[in-house]
Amino acid sequence: MRARPPETDAETSLRLSRIPQSNTGPELIVRQLLHALGHRFRLKNRDLPGSPDIANRARRWAVFVHGCFWHAHEGCSRSSVPKRNRAFWKQKFAENRARDQRAEEELLGAGWAVVTIWECELYSLAGVSEVTHRLDAIVGDAR
Ligand SMILES: [Zn+2]
Repeated sequence: MRARPPETDAETSLRLSRIPQSNTGPELIVRQLLHALGHRFRLKNRDLPGSPDIANRARRWAVFVHGCFWHAHEGCSRSSVPKRNRAFWKQKFAENRARDQRAEEELLGAGWAVVTIWECELYSLAGVSEVTHRLDAIVGDAR
């Protein structure tokens, strides 16, 4: 489960309450895109490094759909550090980023194709189109 600091300011609580825990909109969109591209996959791959949200073992590709807040998307307006408990959040985000990077490196090292998609990329039609091309190029190539 996700750790939370002992105290959270109202703004942060509100933001956290709006973050869906699973089966989120962004992940659902990516699944639909992959289906439309004709790919089959499995969800919640807990036996793989970083538990990729979506993966195909036979084709050896994995897709991460990252929430910008929890995974501290650099330069993204959705990933600001909450004002309260700043040290706690900064450390948490640094850990999350390091974990994400390790997982990707492990997968790549084992010969997997990896696609990382940020939720903010899916909030515009142009973004969805770009993500579709990226999936098609990387996942399609892994066949
Ligand atoms: Zn973002």
